[in-house]
Amino acid sequence: NAHNATSTGVGEDGWKNGLIASEFDKNSCLSKYQASIYRKMVPFKPSSYLISRLRSYEKLHKRCGPYTKLYNETLEQLNSGRSDGPTDCKYVVWISFSGLGNRILTIASAFLYALLTNRVLLVDPGNDMTDLFCEPFPETSWFLPLDFPIKDQFGDLDQKSTRCYGNMLKNNKLNTSTESLPSYLYLHLVHDYDDQDKLFFCDQDQSILQKVTWLMMKTDNYFVPSLFLIPSFEQELNKLFPEKGTVFHHLGRYLFHPSNQVWGLIVRYYQAYLAKADERIGIQIRTFETSPGPFQHVMDQVLACTVKEKLLPEVDTQSSSVPPSSGTPKLKAVLITSLSSGYFEIVRNLYWENPAVTGDLIGVYQPSHEGHQQTEKQLHNRKAWAEIFLLSLSDVLVSSAWSTFGYVAQGLGGLKPWILYKPENQTAPDPPCRRVMSMEPCFHAPPFYDCKAKTGIDTGKLVPHVRHCEDMSWGLKLV
Ligand code: GDP
Repeated sequence: NAHNATSTGVGEDGWKNGLIASEFDKNSCLSKYQASIYRKMVPFKPSSYLISRLRSYEKLHKRCGPYTKLYNETLEQLNSGRSDGPTDCKYVVWISFSGLGNRILTIASAFLYALLTNRVLLVDPGNDMTDLFCEPFPETSWFLPLDFPIKDQFGDLDQKSTRCYGNMLKNNKLNTSTESLPSYLYLHLVHDYDDQDKLFFCDQDQSILQKVTWLMMKTDNYFVPSLFLIPSFEQELNKLFPEKGTVFHHLGRYLFHPSNQVWGLIVRYYQAYLAKADERIGIQIRTFETSPGPFQHVMDQVLACTVKEKLLPEVDTQSSSVPPSSGTPKLKAVLITSLSSGYFEIVRNLYWENPAVTGDLIGVYQPSHEGHQQTEKQLHNRKAWAEIFLLSLSDVLVSSAWSTFGYVAQGLGGLKPWILYKPENQTAPDPPCRRVMSMEPCFHAPPFYDCKAKTGIDTGKLVPHVRHCEDMSWGLKLV
C-alpha cells in the first residue's frame, strides 16, 4: 500500500497505517488518495486488530452487499414478513436523518455496531448522501438500493411504529422465540427515545436483536460511548481500540471521504487561502438561539477565549503603526465557519484596523454564510461538508458547545479543540472555553440505566474511559 501511495505521488498516512484498503479506482475518489497531503501528522495509529477486522468486514460486505445472491435471499424473508431462522447475512440499515454532522456521527456509530454484531451496514442515500461521500468499501456499495422493499416507509418509522423494538416491548408484542421473531425491527435511537427504546443498550436485549436479520435504525446521536458499557462488547472493543479516545478519529477517517465535487471545494479553498500560512486556526461558531445572530456576547466569548488561551494575539489599539518586529512576522490564517458573516467581519476588521502586539499577520477567512440550516439543499450540504473538512485541517481548533459539526471536524483532524461553553441568558460564560479531554464526540442523550439491577445509575461514573462531556453535563464521551 505504501508503495502504491508513493507511486501516485501522494502522502501516506491512510495507506501506510493500513486503514484504507488498496483496491480503488483513483479517479472515482480523489480525496481518498490526496487527503494526506493536506493533513498534519497525528500520533494515533489504528490497532492491527482494527485493521484486520476492517479487512474482514470488507469481505463480508462484498459477499452480502446489494444485489448479491445472499442479499437477494434475505430480502425474500423481508418480503415474506417473518424470520425463517438464521441467515448468512444480517444487516443494519441506517436511515438518513438530521443535519450533516449528526449523520456522520450516527453512521460511524451504526458501523461500529455492525462490526460488533457481524452485520452489514447499508446506508439510506436520502437525498444527498451519494453526492457527498465516496464509497468506503472496495468493490461493493454501502448504499441501500433504491428498490429496497420498505424504503417508502422510512419517513413514518418512529417510536409508535408497530415494528419499533421499544414499542413492541411496551405492548408485550415481542415473542422472542426465533421462529416468531419478525423479519425486521426498527430501532428508535433518536434523542426523544424512551426507557424501552433505551433497552437497546442492555445485553439481554442485544441477545434478542442478534436473531433478527434486518435492523432499521434511526438516530441523531453518537451512541458509541454506551456501546462501551455493554459487557458482551467490552472485550472486542478493548482489542479494536486500545486507545479509547480515538474511536471516531479512526472510523471517521476510514468511512468518510469527500466526493470529488466536495473535494474540489476543499482543495480550491485550502490552496487559495490557507496553504501559505505558518499556522491555521479554525474557529467554528454555532449558536442554538431562535434568531440567527450575530450576537455580541458570542463575539466577546470567542475573543476572550482566543486571547486568554493565546491562540490569537492581542491587538494594540493605541498605536496603528507597525510595531518593531523581532524576526519575520508569522502569517496566521483564521478560518471561521458560521451561518452568519457577522463574526468574520468583526475579527477581520480587528486585525486590519489594529496591529497585533506580536507583530504577526492575521488573515481571516470564511468560506460561506448560509444564514440558516438548509439540509434539503445539495450545494448547502456540500459546502457544510467542505467546511467541516477544512476545519479539520487546522493546527488549532476552537469549537462550539453541543455542535456535532464541530465534533466531526475535531475527530477527523485528530484535534483537541478549545470548546466554547454554551452561553446562558445571552451572556458570555466565564471562563469562555476549555480544552477538551479527548477528541471524541459527545453522546448527547445517553441512557442512565443499570441493566442488571434494573435501576437508574450514573453511567458517566462506571468506568474511567466513559465520562461526562465538557460541554454537556449529562452527555457521555470516551476519553
Ligand atoms: P449541529 O446542529 O451543530 O450539531 O450540526 P449538524 O451538521 O448536524 O446540523 C447543522 C447544519 O446547519 C449543518 O449540517 C449545516 O447544514 C448548517 N450549518 C451549521 N453551521 C454551519 C457552518 O458553519 N457552515 C455551513 N456551511 N453550514 C452550517
